[in-house]
Amino acid sequence: MAERYKLASGIIIHRNSLPNGDLLISLFNQTGKLRAIAKKGKKLGGNIARMSLFNDITVQYYQKDANSLAVLTQVQLNGSLEKLTLPEIYPYAHILAEMVDKLSQNDLSEPKIYSYLASGLKGLSEFADAEKITIIYAWKIIQQAGLAPRLEHCSICNKNELSNRFNLNTGGITCTSCNSGVYISNEVLEYLQTIHKTTIRAMLEHKLLNSKEHWKLLKNYSSYHINEIKSLASLETMI
Ligand SMILES: [Zn+2]
Repeated sequence: MAERYKLASGIIIHRNSLPNGDLLISLFNQTGKLRAIAKKGKKLGGNIARMSLFNDITVQYYQKDANSLAVLTQVQLNGSLEKLTLPEIYPYAHILAEMVDKLSQNDLSEPKIYSYLASGLKGLSEFADAEKITIIYAWKIIQQAGLAPRLEHCSICNKNELSNRFNLNTGGITCTSCNSGVYISNEVLEYLQTIHKTTIRAMLEHKLLNSKEHWKLLKNYSSYHINEIKSLASLETMI
């Protein structure tokens, strides 16, 4: 019954080896996320070692219904960005992959988020400034998911005399009368405003200042509006 088998290609955004030897992966492509399992002891065509995080693969699988896990029968490697495994790059690539994993659901069409993820990972493997690339792409991905912060007008009353307080609950900057939330410097606010108004290519020309403040805001904002991004929390202890 060959027609029961399906094919899918995409980037591995989540990988988890279970204690029983099975391997769980999430594959992300233009049409969304596929959660799949490579069962230990079941013959798998291709090389299971190729199923590393961030690799671009094509899989053959079968699936009982749309809500059940896909069971892999074959895997083929399309491309791998070797530099992403370097210890100084890996945590940043992990942030983008985990963010997409937390934002995406099965069968949700996300072509633009896919292209941000693919070009973000490529950027990390080609350019030196991993910090800047990750911050820009992370906010672009959040924006594409419809969760962009409010940065031009007060997120409480809509006035535009802005203060240096960012309210996580209302999802953005506040004005001088509402004045509530966590501190945000002018540099970080301007940088975020620019990210949301311009292209990534243009953004790469802007100097990133106050990176610690950026990471903290990105972590807190994600926790509040998406889910806890564990790789962001582990990065914070590193920097
Ligand atoms: Zn206000």
